[in-house]
Amino acid sequence: MGEPKSKGIKKRPSSRLGGILDGYDPAKLVIATACSHSSLQIFHGARAEGIKTLGIAVGNEPKFYSAFPRARPDEFIVVDSWNEIPKLAGELRKRNAVIVPHGSFVEYLGATEFLKLNVPSFGNRKVLEWEADREKQRDWLRSAGVWVPKRFKPGEAIDRPVLVKFHGAKGGRGYFIAKNQDEFMEMEDRVQGKAVQIQEYILGTRYYLHFFHSPIKKDGYELSRGSLELLGMDRRDEANIDEMYKLGAQELLKKSGVLPTFVVTGNVPVVIRESLLPKVFDIGERVVERSYELFGGMTGPFCLETLVSDDLHITVFELSARIVAGTNVFISGSPYADFVEPGLSTGRRIAQEIKMARRMGRLPEILT
Ligand code: AMP
Repeated sequence: MGEPKSKGIKKRPSSRLGGILDGYDPAKLVIATACSHSSLQIFHGARAEGIKTLGIAVGNEPKFYSAFPRARPDEFIVVDSWNEIPKLAGELRKRNAVIVPHGSFVEYLGATEFLKLNVPSFGNRKVLEWEADREKQRDWLRSAGVWVPKRFKPGEAIDRPVLVKFHGAKGGRGYFIAKNQDEFMEMEDRVQGKAVQIQEYILGTRYYLHFFHSPIKKDGYELSRGSLELLGMDRRDEANIDEMYKLGAQELLKKSGVLPTFVVTGNVPVVIRESLLPKVFDIGERVVERSYELFGGMTGPFCLETLVSDDLHITVFELSARIVAGTNVFISGSPYADFVEPGLSTGRRIAQEIKMARRMGRLPEILT
């Protein structure tokens, strides 16, 4: 099916894009992202929707992409280091590029540089400010009426198992579990002088919920603006915590100096019991609606990282406001996305949203 003719790009005065889109040819938009994380899926989805793609790589063209011809970008731009991305802005604009940010793109470039990058980006960049700061993220979730783990203030008595999280710790490095006050005291020297969050350790099962909020698509699960889709769910494989049981109980390992770590090494697909789906959508809806009140809305893909306890309570312990790598297990659909459209991936859904906004002349509502 051919792509309906674009109605041109209307400029929204409030958009941070200013006049950038004026110089763009809407018929020739190119989806660009860094060659990492979920880029294969993003390129594959764009190609399926007939949108050209551009991969940004460091050093040289990554060879492994040639092993996946259906997910290889149409073109590469190679830079010496990720720090050079800001210098590419002019070149990217010349190519009509729209950045699809993923976790690694934002991490490699740095949040401040990403906020400044003068190239249209999919989704609302203001969300970064709320997502990256643990306190602000917590306020957002709580004020949305969503359950979050109890947080212990410094010096507060530890009356239940806690997980001690270090700010900015990549892959949960250095996190530790203390089951009670005594165990916390034993480990206290590791906390001294560091920015930490002491969180209630929720004994439950993990579900990472992959949502997509479109501010422009009205059908489906309607929100006050647009709609909410659930495209999949995964659980992360985390080393070494996931395999510790094979070597015995954690206490015994601790005596040998082996502490649990939470480094994500992969992902597995999961489904949640069907009776929990109303709660899942209620949580997703609350988080999106609140985002409009706080900063003009979180649009596009996002993930709520949850724990479900044995009383079937869902607690959200983290939010990612962009495509998460866990969606990579659903390149050709998921047990949820297939009810929306057979074979739909999050990467493809992003490309569809860009096409839809272009058709409706509403690109400034999905790009910033
Ligand atoms: P985070 O850095 O917040 O994404 O946490 C890393 C990992 O720690 C998660 O994927 C979970 O396995 C685990 N985790 C985080 N918060 C909690 C919590 N409050 N209770 C139990 N496990 C948690």
